Amino acid sequence: MTDLRDLYQEVILDHNKSPHNYREMTDATRMALGYNPLCGDKMKLYAKIEGDRIADVTFQGSGCAISKASASIMTDAIKGKTLAEAEALYGKFHDLLTGPPDVKADGAGLGKLAVFSGVREFPARVKCATLAWHTLQTVLKNTQDVAKTE
Ligand code: ZN
Repeated sequence: MTDLRDLYQEVILDHNKSPHNYREMTDATRMALGYNPLCGDKMKLYAKIEGDRIADVTFQGSGCAISKASASIMTDAIKGKTLAEAEALYGKFHDLLTGPPDVKADGAGLGKLAVFSGVREFPARVKCATLAWHTLQTVLKNTQDVAKTE
């Protein structure tokens, strides 16, 4: 289990060092701001929605390794998905991080997102890992509100 945890940590650090989809999108159809006051993580999420599909998604921001890695892996995971598929993935990810402690964390169907399963042991860090997803909710709902984890 220790090996798996080290591997997960390595994936998170890699994405923090060289985040994927980290750029401004000048032709975005939707944009949302996210802020996690507990840690100070800030992010701007850009999306290009075509029909009911997320044609492209990028982000920019500043924050801790977990928040940045989470946004990086999330954008990889939802690019090309429909809005409903992205919503379903959010539900699974949320369950993985905040499910009851007696339920074993199950990363099935989550791909790389499963690297955040260890975060559930650190409640303060759960907010860092879910910030990108909260911000995505704002994008999916197409509101102008700033997404907050509180
Ligand atoms: Zn953070």
